[in-house]
Amino acid sequence: DAGVQRDRAVSAQEWLHKWAEGKTGFHQEQGHPLLRKYLDVLLNGRSGLRIFFPLCGKAVEMKWLADMGHHVVGVEISEQALREFFSEQGLPYREEPVPGIPGAKVLQSTSGNISLYCCSIYDLSSAVVGKFDGVWDRGALVAVNPCDRQRYASLMISLMEKNSSYLLVTVLYDPNKHKGPPFYVPESEIRSLFG
Ligand code: SAH
Repeated sequence: DAGVQRDRAVSAQEWLHKWAEGKTGFHQEQGHPLLRKYLDVLLNGRSGLRIFFPLCGKAVEMKWLADMGHHVVGVEISEQALREFFSEQGLPYREEPVPGIPGAKVLQSTSGNISLYCCSIYDLSSAVVGKFDGVWDRGALVAVNPCDRQRYASLMISLMEKNSSYLLVTVLYDPNKHKGPPFYVPESEIRSLFG
């Protein structure tokens, strides 16, 4: 019964705290095996894609895909996470304010192919970040507060190009035994959210 988690919410402050205290057990230093496994589905024979990482953390696959010639865009509320990404990956970067989003900044690799927005995903729109050919959603939909899922899904749909591919990783467990995140998102709900 996924309903037991319906009213549970994690605030932005709590996420920032997790980063400050190093409670980032979700981070995968070697990258996620499922992205390797389904890379062909994401790329679908195409090259030079614009790929979006919602709620990106410091996912190492962002560098991996950029090194393959794709343009990577991420969004993350923790500036610490983004700075750790660039320093751990040994990538020089610059930072700039984001026209249209007060208080937000974008950290961009000097080479220009990785742009990470430091703001809430709900501040983004296709007017700011454009549309994407591919999405890697791991630790994103399942990290979104259950009350915000519809809003999140509608936003993601608005950021997708016509022929884009969306890889979504979810987790299966008994929601009575763990309060989340990651939250349990039943398959039926994924279908109704994304249609
Ligand atoms: N996708 C990453 C991180 C997963 S944890 C990975 O797989 O490693 C979820 C991340 O979302 C956290 O880093 C948290 O700081 C960030 N986050 C939570 N709410 C957010 C929001 N509204 N906008 C942007 N980032 C958010």
